[in-house]
Amino acid sequence: MAIVGGGYTGLWTAYSLLVADPTLRVVVLEAEQVGHGASGRNGGWCSALFPASIAALTAMAGREAALAQHRAMRETVAEVGRTTAAEGIDCHYARGGTLVAARSRAQWARARAEVAEARSWGRGEDDLRLLGAAEASAVLGARGVRGATYTPDCAAIHPVRLVTGLAEACERRGVTIHERTRVTAIEPGRARTAHGDVRAEVVVRATEGFTPLLPGLRRAVVPVYSLMIATEPLPAQTWAEIGLARRETFSDHRHLVIYGQRTADDRLAFGGRGAPYHLGSRVRPEFDHDERVFAGLYATLTSMFPVLAGTRVTHAWGGPLGIPRDWCASVGLDRRTGLAWAGGYVGDGVATTNLAGRTLADLVLGRDTDLVRLPWVGHRSPAWEPEPLRWLGINLGLRATRLADVEEAVTGRPSLVARATAPLLGG
Ligand SMILES: Cc1cc2nc3c(=O)[nH]c(=O)nc-3n(C[C@H](O)[C@H](O)[C@H](O)COP(=O)(O)OP(=O)(O)OC[C@H]3O[C@@H](n4cnc5c(N)ncnc54)[C@H](O)[C@@H]3O)c2cc1C
Repeated sequence: MAIVGGGYTGLWTAYSLLVADPTLRVVVLEAEQVGHGASGRNGGWCSALFPASIAALTAMAGREAALAQHRAMRETVAEVGRTTAAEGIDCHYARGGTLVAARSRAQWARARAEVAEARSWGRGEDDLRLLGAAEASAVLGARGVRGATYTPDCAAIHPVRLVTGLAEACERRGVTIHERTRVTAIEPGRARTAHGDVRAEVVVRATEGFTPLLPGLRRAVVPVYSLMIATEPLPAQTWAEIGLARRETFSDHRHLVIYGQRTADDRLAFGGRGAPYHLGSRVRPEFDHDERVFAGLYATLTSMFPVLAGTRVTHAWGGPLGIPRDWCASVGLDRRTGLAWAGGYVGDGVATTNLAGRTLADLVLGRDTDLVRLPWVGHRSPAWEPEPLRWLGINLGLRATRLADVEEAVTGRPSLVARATAPLLGG
């Protein structure tokens, strides 16, 4: 088996294959170094979030299948905890759940609507809960909290520790990892590199946001950048105000995605979308840094937590994630060609990649399990539009998202811009 990409997808797949059949020969080919992609740079939410909603999955495959996908995601959060503990991977896994605060009237309306919708799918209090202002503020001491949604299905993790620990676990089981080995083309039965071809029965594409750089895949997913900052370690009296005592991950119900976690060494790591999409789906190291976005993140953070004014940011970084046209992640194996893939997680890949790896192992080994019957298996997302339409649509969507938050801050009502531009804002 040849696996292209040394992030969580590639490594969980290699790991799961070797656990299932220790006699397999598995090679991982990584263009740079293990964890070079999103797996070494993310916000560390190991969550049950899946980019396609239960409603979208129901439209695709029916209610039962959609709910089975949701259950599988919830179980995966625990599975990552179990496996990392068993393998001695010290990735600072802390299962505190996620609190998403409502900090305006419009956000509070969305929070209540989300919980009402969850109930309509039979999701109970143990899955998603509405918290009042006092209960929410006791967990997250942010300014202007009117309430929140809370789910226990998330663990905060340290991304680099997870990816390097996983690589070591793979090697212990006999996986060969070739770093600095860029695959130039994936074909049935082989992966081509500048150093020669690797022949394999199955070739797995696990290249996520970098996929458009491979021949023939320019429109498969778009690389959209998410950027992050991390503060210096914060003193105990600051944490007494901010809270997050169980290292709950947090966000709020604004339109533009933001996410944060309290790290094991007491920093606040905080990120968000909002960096522009680059014409032609380009991916370049210089796109990882955008001073305007970093400044915006700092402003958001200090407005949420005034106690952080003047706090030093010691790290700032970013990276590409992969968005499929219908926002539905997928995993699959074409038995005829031996070509397999997993990806399109949008920003929800930390746990999902584990589910992908276990599913790919079952597919490759021809096992008839519950995992291979989940609705994302074999799903094919449509191609993105050609340029410049792609550039126009995505960047207009980003602007509309920002505008919607400004509108809500001014009017206090749910955004009309958001409603009018819903198709641009994603699936
Ligand atoms: C800033 C940021 C924050 C995020 N926060 C979260 C979060 O909190 N929670 C969450 O669930 N998700 C989050 N995500 C998304 C999550 O990190 C990804 O979905 C996940 O890591 C994807 O793993 P992967 O292995 O599929 O891809 P990647 O980790 O991107 O790995 C792909 C690998 O393939 C290699 N590669 C690419 N092309 C080739 C080639 N031609 N030949 C050989 N190798 C190649 C790359 O170098 C890379 O190492 C975030 C992403 C970013 C960028």
